[in-house]
Parts: sequence; structure tokens; C-alpha cells
Amino acid sequence: MLQIKQYKFKLSFKFSFLMQLFKFISNEVCVCPCVCVCFQALRDWVAIESDSSNMLKRPDLHRMMEMVAQKLRPMGGNVELVDIGEQELPNGQTIALPKVVTAQFGNDPNKHTVCVYGHVDVQPAKLEDGWATDPYNLTDIKGNLYGRGASDNKAPVLAWIHAVEAYQALNMELPVNVKFVIEGMEETGSNGLDAMILAQRDTFFSDVDYIIISDCGWLSRRPALTYGTRGNCYFYAEVEGPKQDLHSGVYGGTVIEPMTDLIGILDTLISPSGKILIPGIREAVAPLSDEEWKMYQDIQFDLDNYKNKIGVNQLMYSNKVDLLAHMWRYPTVSIHGIEGAFSDPGTKTVIPAKVIAKFSIRQVPNMDPALVKKQVTDYLHLVFAKRKSPNKLKVTMVIGAKPWLADTQHPLYEAGKAAVKRVFDVDPDLIREGGTIPIARTFQDVTRKSIIMMPIGGFDDGLHSQNEKIMLSLVAAGTRFLQALKTFKGPNCKTS
Ligand SMILES: [Zn+2]
Repeated sequence: MLQIKQYKFKLSFKFSFLMQLFKFISNEVCVCPCVCVCFQALRDWVAIESDSSNMLKRPDLHRMMEMVAQKLRPMGGNVELVDIGEQELPNGQTIALPKVVTAQFGNDPNKHTVCVYGHVDVQPAKLEDGWATDPYNLTDIKGNLYGRGASDNKAPVLAWIHAVEAYQALNMELPVNVKFVIEGMEETGSNGLDAMILAQRDTFFSDVDYIIISDCGWLSRRPALTYGTRGNCYFYAEVEGPKQDLHSGVYGGTVIEPMTDLIGILDTLISPSGKILIPGIREAVAPLSDEEWKMYQDIQFDLDNYKNKIGVNQLMYSNKVDLLAHMWRYPTVSIHGIEGAFSDPGTKTVIPAKVIAKFSIRQVPNMDPALVKKQVTDYLHLVFAKRKSPNKLKVTMVIGAKPWLADTQHPLYEAGKAAVKRVFDVDPDLIREGGTIPIARTFQDVTRKSIIMMPIGGFDDGLHSQNEKIMLSLVAAGTRFLQALKTFKGPNCKTS
């Protein structure tokens, strides 16, 4: 205890010295050096439009990865930009994937080695989408930093880097060896990363004991640790009819319209009360245990806040446990859009010749994406056949990401809970994530290491949405996770 107090004193003394220094260098007013450094570095990172879904932005994405390496190199670690090959575009052309940045700080065989994963690519954002500020100009409004990628995932990545920097600035020994894996394709499915992890399983990852991911948010104002994510199977259902689009006045009533067929089969996927109608899907879901039910009961979650946040007056379920369970541990079907449908303003009277529905099914244990692909394809062909339509149906699964679930009894989670308690002075909620972070499952399957998600992001950060933001104070708190994790006393993976 005494040691911790001395450490805190030393830390705050050095921080106050650094604060003056950083104020001088950056001419920024700040309350703490890590906050200040984070702000400037985050501003530089957010200014790069590292949108991995837009091929025209690929040069920006390459520049972003180079900036990450530039940030890490002066810190003296072993930093590499790993070439992960090329991406094939729908038109058959290929384009270079952004390199993955790996780095290593410390290689003491007597210490645990933690590997922090993060990504620095972003979802698209335009001012005209409804942003109050320029999405690529980090803007501080009352302690909230607004900008695309601020919370997802640039600030959390910087928080971990700055944690290492803080140790270095204080001339203090790192409590663990720290590795980083930072990629630039997460928002479009981590293209190329699985193969890179597999290729480096016996090299870069061979001495890694634990993997930490901070690519998610809290559920409420209470800090959280995340122990599971849903997977995702994404489908295209294409219905093709006439050889060209037709005038509905001239041809309407004489042809069997592809859009009518498509809407008809889409309506058989899920009932209005949320029951998935595809045979075999619900049967595969792991049953809700009593312990889980109890855990969900204790989680801080306000249904009215949730309703207000998303702007609805009725949800699919009216009690907390059912709602959380269906958010995290039951599958669902979402219909996202129809390619080829008329969607512009106005009243075009067209019969589209070919329409492609996009829908996805969130995966949970114990569903198997390969089996889901077969179940969905067989089922849609069956219901389509009943329509006796002359049109052609083609069903393809374009993404098949598995869910990830960790053991919350593992010592890593005990360490995580202690770290959160130490930083925020409150016990974290143990939560799951309804979304998909496919790389968590890959890390688990390939490296066989334990993974923990330590969110550094608020429940209302607006990831992927307009006015994405992160609280400055949360970034600073996240920076302290590494220090807090040094209390970890779990078994060493190398010997267990
Ligand atoms: Zn993310």
C-alpha cells in the first residue's frame, strides 16, 4: 500500500512537471500531461480521413498507419509495418491493404506479456450527414472531443500508447512487456489480419500471455468489462427477372415483379415479435443460465434512457433482462437495404429488373456460420419455390463472423475488475457486446490466449454515427489501466 502511495506521489509530481513542459510545447491549456498529449495526438490522427471502406481514401489510410508507426518509433520499441498483401475489388482490380503496425516494449521473460489490439480506420463521415462540427477536426466541447474515430478507436489506441509513454517519461520500469497490433481494416472486416495473426502465431504472438482490446463502450455511466461479442452472417438475396427495368404503366400487371418476390421472401425471415422463422437457428442457441440471468439483473441499465437515446417509445421487450439478453446473447435478423430499388426522391414508376436484398443475422454461441449459411439458403429457396415465380433467386453469404465469449472466472478478468476499481473506484459491470469484433475470435482460436475487452468509451459516444465523441477524462482514465493492471497476480500462461 505504501509503495502505491509513493508511486502515486511520484507520478503526480512528475506529471505536474510534464504538464508545464507540455503546456510550453503545445501552448495548450490542460489539466494533465497525458490529457494534453492525447488531445494533440488525437487531433492529428482524427484529421486523417482513414475510411477503410472508400478506395479513394486508401492513400490516407496508408498515411495513417505510417503515423502510428511514427508515434511508436521514438519510444524505442521494436516497431514494424507488416505488409498484409492486397485486397481484391468487386471490379477485379486489386489495391494494397494498409500495413499492420506491430510494436514491442520490453522482453523480460519473467514478466507477463500483454498484447493490445486496436484499429485506426474509421467509418465514413461527412459534415452534411448532420454533424454539428467538422468530423475531421477534433473539437472540444465541454470536455467531449468530437470527431470521426475519436472513440472508435483512435483515442483508446492512443490511451494505451500514452500509458507506455508515461512509464518511459517517469523512467519507470513497465510492469509487463507490452506489444501492440494496430490495423487499418477493422471497419470493413479486418481483411488480411487473420492471415497475419496465423503467420505470426509462432513468432510475434508466441510469448503473448494476454490480449487486451479496447474497441467497445460502456453500457451506462458505470465502467464495464466486456466478455462476449455477437458474430455476424451477412447475406445477399438476389432476385432477377426481366432483362431490363420496365415501365410500370406499360408492363405492370403482365410480369411477375422481382421486387414483389423479394419483399415476399424477406417477410418470412422474422416475425413482427422478433421470432426468427428460419428453421434450426433458434434451436442452436445456448440456453440462458440462472447465473447469467442473475448477472443481467444486477447490471446498471435504464430502459427509459435507452428508449430516449434511440428515439423510440416501445422496445421489443419491456424488461431489462429480456432486453439485454436479446441485445447480446440471442441472434437477430436485420434487413439493411435493397440494391437496385428506386430510392431517390420523386416518383419514378419503374419495375426494377434485378434487386438484391442485404440482410444479416447476428451470431451467438452455439451457432455455426457454415450451418447458418445452409439453413438460410435452403429456407429462402423453399419459400421462393412456393411462390412459383419464373424469376431467379440467388443467395450468397458474404460475411461469416463467429461470436466470441470469454470465461469471466479467468484471473485476467479478476485483474481487469481490480484495474477498473482502482482507476474509477467502482466495480465494473460485466457486459457483452451486441456487435461484432471478429478479430477477438481469431485471437482466441489462433493464439489460444485469454482475451479481455476493457472499453475506453462512453455509452453515448455515437460510434459509426453523427457527432461521434469521447470524453477527455475517460481517455485520461484509460491511460491509467496499464498501471492498474500491474496488480495482476494470475498464473503465468507459459507455465500453466
Ligand atoms: Zn472499432
